[in-house]
Amino acid sequence: MREVYIDNNATTRVAPEVLEEMLPYFCDLYGNPSSIHRFGGKAGEKVREARERVADLLQAQQPDEILFTSCGTESDNAAIIGTLTSYSEKRHIVTTKTEHPAVLNLCKYLEGKGYEATYLCVDNKGMIDLDELRGAITDATALVSIMYANNETGVVFPIEDIGQVVKEKGAVFHCDAVQAVGKIPIDLNTSTVDLLSLSGHKFYAPNGVGALYIRRGVKLFPYIIRGYQEGGRRGGTENVPSIIGLGKACTLAKETMPVEQQRIKVLRDRLEDVILERIPGVLVNGDRSRRLPNTTNMSFEAVEGEAILVMLSEEGIAVSSGSACSSGDPEPSHVLKAMGVPSTAIYGTIRFSLGRYNTEDEIDYIIEKLPPIIQRLREISPDWVEGKRAAG
Ligand code: PLP
Repeated sequence: MREVYIDNNATTRVAPEVLEEMLPYFCDLYGNPSSIHRFGGKAGEKVREARERVADLLQAQQPDEILFTSCGTESDNAAIIGTLTSYSEKRHIVTTKTEHPAVLNLCKYLEGKGYEATYLCVDNKGMIDLDELRGAITDATALVSIMYANNETGVVFPIEDIGQVVKEKGAVFHCDAVQAVGKIPIDLNTSTVDLLSLSGHKFYAPNGVGALYIRRGVKLFPYIIRGYQEGGRRGGTENVPSIIGLGKACTLAKETMPVEQQRIKVLRDRLEDVILERIPGVLVNGDRSRRLPNTTNMSFEAVEGEAILVMLSEEGIAVSSGSACSSGDPEPSHVLKAMGVPSTAIYGTIRFSLGRYNTEDEIDYIIEKLPPIIQRLREISPDWVEGKRAAG
């Protein structure tokens, strides 16, 4: 059967160039980067190069502003817990209602530990209000944690405008850029962002490696305590092959981004336009003018997202009903709820997230398979039949 993978916000295939660069560091150059001998020296050299490559993609001022972690979730946790520990007299966090659970559930956990959290609302396009943000930051606010781009809708927040407000108010600014890095240009050189999270498996590096950018001079207590690794900022022997893979993925992203993302955007727009043209009762969720080039989040009225997903899967098409993390959860997405997506549509949501290896031919295949699936599901949907009767 034909297979089309269109779920790249969940995870991506490892790029062959990335794998090739990693392979020698499993069985030949397998030293611990802290060891003095040749094996250690070679590994240490490549880790240094990877740090420079990550810094280069983000346009960070110094490679030592990059800390390697195990994933985006760890980077988010390290940023938030590390800041709260560093500024222990401040016990308030500001975030948004549409963050990833790596931030949202941590904030809820911290509330249970006596911290205070403010969750900013979003409008029906998924945007926050800067005046609400300004009003939410108080003298007790240690940090503001706001994502760069939303994993479900692709909506991109105005990070520098947000950062201006955070800086006026004197709080630390953490940005979860797990979905943005590798897809849109990021320039930390002149940015207001203090801490920024990224994750390798979202842009063709393997799973199990991430990074946290820590602007020079920003205080951050270590999240994993041991000693000397990562300049004393994160304990644990480095995951050398994956760090090397992350570095290579950053170089590839930098080289290919302008052309690749334009190609992906054209494919995404075609998919979206044809679906809207051929299928009635479809909403596109999120601000279409401020989105990642690869993502579209669509709600199909009067059908269940899980049913669409299963039927697409039977045709070999892999998509997601929102975030991979919430699959199997009967509750509708917290992101779409916060945006006020109507109850008639919210359950029928599908996220298409395109990537480097998707082709025009694959988009044609989805366009061929999806309309009859929606039609079949609606024929057995009491809501759709009722709605049509009421309308007619
Ligand atoms: N933040 C965002 C916006 C994400 O989309 C994800 C993963 O989907 C994460 C954080 C967590 O990253 P990881 O899977 O590397 O832990």
